[in-house]
Amino acid sequence: MSARPRIGEGKIGAFLSAAIGVLAVGSVLCLRYPAFLTTPELRAHYDMDALRLILAIAMMAGAGLGVLAILLRGPRRLALFGLAMLFLATILGGPYVTYRNFSQPKIYFGLDWLILDLFFTGLAFGALEWIFPKVRPDQPPLREGWKLDLAYFGLNHLLIGVFLVTSTYFAHVYFAWAINPAIQSHVAALPAIIRFALVLLAADAVEYASHRAYHEIPFLWRIHAIHHSPTAMDWLSGSRLHILEPLITRAIVLVPIFLLGFPQDTIFAYLIFISVQSVLIHSNIAVDIGWFRYLVVTTQFHHWHHASDAEALDKNYTAHTPLFDLLFGTFHLPAGRWPKNYGTVKPIPGNMLGQFLHPITGTIASFTEHREDPSLPP
Ligand SMILES: [Zn+2]
Repeated sequence: MSARPRIGEGKIGAFLSAAIGVLAVGSVLCLRYPAFLTTPELRAHYDMDALRLILAIAMMAGAGLGVLAILLRGPRRLALFGLAMLFLATILGGPYVTYRNFSQPKIYFGLDWLILDLFFTGLAFGALEWIFPKVRPDQPPLREGWKLDLAYFGLNHLLIGVFLVTSTYFAHVYFAWAINPAIQSHVAALPAIIRFALVLLAADAVEYASHRAYHEIPFLWRIHAIHHSPTAMDWLSGSRLHILEPLITRAIVLVPIFLLGFPQDTIFAYLIFISVQSVLIHSNIAVDIGWFRYLVVTTQFHHWHHASDAEALDKNYTAHTPLFDLLFGTFHLPAGRWPKNYGTVKPIPGNMLGQFLHPITGTIASFTEHREDPSLPP
């Protein structure tokens, strides 16, 4: 009996080859033009030898997968695109291209942050969503809307410099007057675990208030509705954010952290925790952690926040611990149940430009509707 070609595996191979090819071209461009394409705050911590080795291994794996995909009769065009990208990365200098000294320009893009986060988060959560039980077992990895979410992932990572500069500027310029050295020295003297709990609570207090405002103030909802528009949840869907949302939220969340004067190790632990948790809570992973769900924000808790089921609207606002939802009566976590539907109740535009303009077009539309029927909410 002759073995039949495994077209499904060929598809995965071709897709991975194309993805690695694009990331490899981006990585080599980062090595060639670090001044404009890499993030100074991250660059200082890089182990260049390890990163170059990872890039070399990934490029070889990408080439192997591309060839294998063609042999398995996968999508030939996609596999050839992947191989062409890997060839381009090689002629641009490959993993060992010379890294020159430079002076830092004021404007830069976080292409390094985009590539590293996409590669490692995609690898880790792609595997986790494959290994663990799924919330929606039938949902494929390339589900409806993945391209749009990937575009948002790209945009919001490339603009990391803008978010860092504006949030730091906002805290330093408008809140420096409120710094109290006595409070800051008390905070610095606390045990590390208490400081970590305190930074999460301080951030969550602001997250709760701002998130609730995003839901309850009509203009802010038109910004935040973009984040609620995916009808499928997975590790990538949380990336869908109107550009104004990270700009506003990061600026105000930094204020209590700045005022309390947490040391670098606490900030670092906080950044690692939130970067993993923010992906995990959107993921398609159904893991029950028992009573622990009253202590930390879980996937199930945040999935209910994204539900368009009537029982769950405007619930579960906190980002790290459900404490403030429990205190203010917005906690909704039925044991063992998951939402039926995700997305917004009212449809919003399905493309990035339409979503970018939605705060304006949605406001204009609501004025028109309101004039025709004054009983409608604004
Ligand atoms: Zn929300």
